[in-house]
Amino acid sequence: MELKIYDSLSDKEKYLSESKNKAIRLFVCGPTVYDYSHIGHARTYIFFDFFAKYLKSLGKKVFYLQNITDIDDKIIKKAKEQNTDPIILAKLMTKYHLRDMKTLGINSVTKYASATKFIKQIEKQVKNLIKKGFAYKIENDGWYFDIKSFPEYGKLSGRTAEGAEDSISRIDEAVDKKNKGDFCLWKLKKPNEPFWKSDVLGDGRPGWHIEDTAISENFFGPQYDIHGGGLDLKFPHHEAEIAQQECSSGLSPMVNIWMHSGMLTVNGKKMSKSLNNFLTIQDYLKNHSANSLKLLVLSSNYRSLLNYSQTLAEQAETSLKTVKEFITKLDLAKNSKTKETRSFDLKPFEDKFASSLQNDLNTPEAISAIFSLINEVNKVIWTLNLSSIKNIEKTLKNKLDLFGISINLDKIPQNINKLAKERKLLRDSKQFIRSDDLRKAIEELGYKVEDTPKGQIILKK
Ligand code: AMP
Repeated sequence: MELKIYDSLSDKEKYLSESKNKAIRLFVCGPTVYDYSHIGHARTYIFFDFFAKYLKSLGKKVFYLQNITDIDDKIIKKAKEQNTDPIILAKLMTKYHLRDMKTLGINSVTKYASATKFIKQIEKQVKNLIKKGFAYKIENDGWYFDIKSFPEYGKLSGRTAEGAEDSISRIDEAVDKKNKGDFCLWKLKKPNEPFWKSDVLGDGRPGWHIEDTAISENFFGPQYDIHGGGLDLKFPHHEAEIAQQECSSGLSPMVNIWMHSGMLTVNGKKMSKSLNNFLTIQDYLKNHSANSLKLLVLSSNYRSLLNYSQTLAEQAETSLKTVKEFITKLDLAKNSKTKETRSFDLKPFEDKFASSLQNDLNTPEAISAIFSLINEVNKVIWTLNLSSIKNIEKTLKNKLDLFGISINLDKIPQNINKLAKERKLLRDSKQFIRSDDLRKAIEELGYKVEDTPKGQIILKK
């Protein structure tokens, strides 16, 4: 069975076409760096990190490109509020964003490309659009894309802003625009704002949408495999990207597959910097693990809305404890001196796991297959032979790696180990009241002991 992915443009599932030697070219919209990244951003980037890792696990090569919007109206506005320089603010927030990605183990991006490093390419694309008659100038303002010059404008989102009052966010406002939905390609210099010299366009800075297409064209050419991003960017951002790229190159389609991941919401509202209802990645990590955020995110379908709550984070932590307990048991079984003979067939699990992911990356189903496996193995774990135990351990680790989840077994302090040994001796000599007292003492120190047919296991509570 081949990998099927839902393409938002055709509204159909598509098979990812084989590109045997070439890498799959994946572009995902990066952050606009004017504030700390929140767990909404993390949702999108955790998902696409998993996606890139999954493609690699299928033996495919991947070139994962992500832009960083480090010059934009939002950055300039925030810098003014903070009485700082927009370029410095963007640099700082880029640094924090990349730190957060590293902390979360998001490490599959091949190249992060900051817009300010690609001004020449941006200028070239705007000039091309002007030459071909797709752009016009508004004096003392900037160069605009004329959406009426591209009859296919709206083909991705079904919107053009002409009749949709709610959809004009981040479409630049200007009284002299030809059409309400026209967006700015190049903004002419304003006092106290960053600008780059340009003889043809006039000194100024790029509009938001053109940054992405200039960067993707620079690395991938005018046509490539997959473009991803959050659903909030479908209109106007991705619609504008198609218009710019297809008009500038004269080639269509710009990409084979458009992937849109759902929003992370709080009380039903999109988590966003502008609504000020956000939980930064750093704040999340003060109370929870990076593993729990990844499990929480991937336990919901990437195209669905994910309403975040503290309870969800706690549930994810509890599920991780189940996994850790299971791996601790496997470890004990592996090191047991008694030989067992029963074998365990992993094939039904492998098949279920693979088919779930091949079916438009159904991670919740794949994760639920992992927990079913744990359940099934738990029923017979103490009777399994060494090779089965080792296979289960390896397979599980492999699958969790794909989700960016790595489980480290608890390091048990010496005093706890000592108490646990004493408890076992008391229990073996049937001194249950005293052994129970020791169990309570261990619990008060934050650990729990569990008896199994192969000895006791100790876990952090
Ligand atoms: P921005 O910094 O707003 O330009 O967003 C950068 C990336 O994060 C885009 O792909 C957005 O779609 C995504 N993003 C922003 N907010 C959320 C959210 N609440 N849930 C999921 N993805 C988000």
